[in-house]
Amino acid sequence: MKFKDIITPKADELVIAGPCSVESRSQFLDTAKRLHDNGINVIRGGIWKPRTVPGCFEGIGAIGFEWMKEAKQEDGVKIATEIGNREQLEIALKNGVDIVWIGARSTTDPFIVQEIADTIAQHSKEEIDKVTFLIKNPVCPDYNLWLGAISRIYNAGVRRLGLVHRGFKTGKETKFRNSPCWDIVLRMRTEHPELPMYCDPSHITGNRSAVYQMAYDAIMTYGCDGLMIESHCSPNDALTDANQQIYPYEVKTIVDHIVWNHPKNQEEINILRKKIDDIDEDLINMLVERFKVCKEIGKLKKSNGDKILQPKRWEKVINHAKEMMYEALQKNEISFDFHYFIDIVWNEIHNVSVEIQNNK
Ligand code: PEP
Ligand code: MN
Repeated sequence: MKFKDIITPKADELVIAGPCSVESRSQFLDTAKRLHDNGINVIRGGIWKPRTVPGCFEGIGAIGFEWMKEAKQEDGVKIATEIGNREQLEIALKNGVDIVWIGARSTTDPFIVQEIADTIAQHSKEEIDKVTFLIKNPVCPDYNLWLGAISRIYNAGVRRLGLVHRGFKTGKETKFRNSPCWDIVLRMRTEHPELPMYCDPSHITGNRSAVYQMAYDAIMTYGCDGLMIESHCSPNDALTDANQQIYPYEVKTIVDHIVWNHPKNQEEINILRKKIDDIDEDLINMLVERFKVCKEIGKLKKSNGDKILQPKRWEKVINHAKEMMYEALQKNEISFDFHYFIDIVWNEIHNVSVEIQNNK
């Protein structure tokens, strides 16, 4: 499915920051003001908090919108919050929320996403066109579940639509709270370049010391368009996600270090890209030649009654490749783990070569 007529966010909507939860009037207004003083124009705050385990702070509830509206009036900021069902969406719309997002747990559930979509469809186009809907990735790394949720909200008529990569639970222990999966982001960017992609480095890392690097990489390496960052006027006192929230001035540091506009050296990049394309062509042609030779050897081995797979010869081939890579490393031409690389690539080439010699 193609998403047509998506409205691109304005530059000042590309950084969303604010506390995990709206906790009190003073906490929210203080955080919002400091963020605004640091150049942030969209302030987030969770009103209803979907905790994984019950019993913790589960959100201040609708009263929090009064404080969000105050921030909007005083600082001229836009406000963003999470909604998780029909009722919450209705209350958020009534309170003039500019951006709503569907959280990772809700995106996982097509019933709830459809309920939200049906609620959207009951509103006028004019009303819905004022609101941006962001869809966080589902908890598990399931591309279609994410795409399905986006499609449901799009089909309800939303054109201010975007995505948030907040990492996935993969069942494996990693250094992050939710592992980033850039392959899924890349696939989404490739198949749906029209959908703006935000990254939430706070819920990915779960750790304030790693937020800067993750935010930087998301934009500069993986080509995300925007950021949603958790920030609190007093991070250690936060009632939810205290470990990952940063001070408002730290959000500014991150934003200032990122080069937001596309590369100024575009021409030089294009020349180098052309070189890469030429090298790729050479590589493919050389592999084709290599496989042709394999076929000839296969025929000869068969007519001699020789075995196709000869471990000693294989050892020699892979060691030769490793030696060449080692020489390149000595000359400082490469700087990564070449043994690992050669093992993977040459084993694959060897597997195909054996199949070809077997005449498959
Ligand atoms: C949040 O943004 O505070 C939140 C609960 O996020 P997620 O849905 O990514 O867990
Ligand atoms: Mn949070």
